[in-house]
Amino acid sequence: MYCSSCGNEISDTARYCQQCGTPTVKTASTPAVARPRRPLSRPRDDRKIAGVCAGIARYLGMDVTLVRILMLVFAIWPPCVGAIFYIVCWIVMPQDPLLLPPATHVSEPQSAPAAP
Ligand SMILES: [Zn+2]
Repeated sequence: MYCSSCGNEISDTARYCQQCGTPTVKTASTPAVARPRRPLSRPRDDRKIAGVCAGIARYLGMDVTLVRILMLVFAIWPPCVGAIFYIVCWIVMPQDPLLLPPATHVSEPQSAPAAP
């Protein structure tokens, strides 16, 4: 079967997706109280520098502005801790997959010949 969240191929016996941790459909008997865990990745939209703050905020379910303020505070005191943390996150955190528009038409047939 395939993960309903990220599309990763998972075995039929697996209860959770190995990539994003989303429970498989078979575990519908257990109450799905917890919200689906989002991958810790950098979104391509709603980013200021590299999307690290936005990704952390989305992962933790926090406000993006609050995460940015905390990151800024930790960048000032203790010195450089926030900056180093940001750079490490920038390197480690993957970007969201690029959302391409669905290919509706493959190629336009050339109906009108080019005028000389
Ligand atoms: Zn998944």
